[in-house]
Amino acid sequence: MVFETQITAHKEVAQGTHEVTLARPTAFSFKAGQYTQVAVPKLTNPDPKGRSRQFSVTSSPYDMDEIKVVFRNSGSGFKETLINTSIGASVQVEQAAGSFLLPQILTRPQMFVAGGVGIAPFMSYLHQKIEDTWEYPITLLYGNQNPESAAYLEELKQMSKQHRQFSLDTIYKRPTPGLFAKLAEKYIDAVWWVVGPPGMVAVTVNGLQLGGVATDKIMTESFDGY
Ligand SMILES: Cc1cc2nc3c(=O)[nH]c(=O)nc-3n(C[C@H](O)[C@H](O)[C@H](O)COP(=O)(O)OP(=O)(O)OC[C@H]3O[C@@H](n4cnc5c(N)ncnc54)[C@H](O)[C@@H]3O)c2cc1C
Repeated sequence: MVFETQITAHKEVAQGTHEVTLARPTAFSFKAGQYTQVAVPKLTNPDPKGRSRQFSVTSSPYDMDEIKVVFRNSGSGFKETLINTSIGASVQVEQAAGSFLLPQILTRPQMFVAGGVGIAPFMSYLHQKIEDTWEYPITLLYGNQNPESAAYLEELKQMSKQHRQFSLDTIYKRPTPGLFAKLAEKYIDAVWWVVGPPGMVAVTVNGLQLGGVATDKIMTESFDGY
């Protein structure tokens, strides 16, 4: 199902990183971790890949007013068009989809690994969950080139102060499988959730498997196109 909606805000949330807020159509439903396809009515800049892209939703499923998405500005015709589309203008969103569903009830420690804008589905989850109490720790490993390009970094730091069961670790160098193999040994009981560009996801999974994590304890979402 496709919904017509409007842009309500644009925001630069880190270096070269753009957030778009859309009015949430009443019938648009989603769970934390899912994505939607955003389409502009007409490209102002040519784009061989067309006038839409898939983006994970960053806002909370409890927020009935807004849907937010975030992306790096690569200079593609679609993203240039979306960034330059005025507030109040119409765009389309598809009904949310995806099986990367973050757990509502925690039965063991959770490790979230985000590469760059791979933070998107975790933001949706944390926005929803941060007011609750939960039994097991959630640790977010957040990798970026530098702090300036880390979207929502201050907000995440605040969340980690607010919730004793949520902690944030930042990584500003290219991760190796060895790093994740060591972490796998440290967080032996954890379930791993890995999101980001395909190369980063592959390195992380490789390291976790070297560290002895079973395949059914690793969930991934690859942001193809990066
Ligand atoms: C389930 C799922 C969820 C996703 N969620 C997100 C999300 O939350 N946020 C997000 O950002 N992405 C997400 N993606 C990826 C997203 O759909 C796009 O594929 C991605 O953002 C790249 O789009 P693009 O328009 O920048 O590049 P594309 O046009 O798809 O091009 C691919 C490559 O070419 C380069 N390129 C393209 N045009 C130009 C140009 N004119 N000049 C220079 N270089 C160019 C780009 O740098 C890019 O590396 C998701 C993908 C999937 C499958």
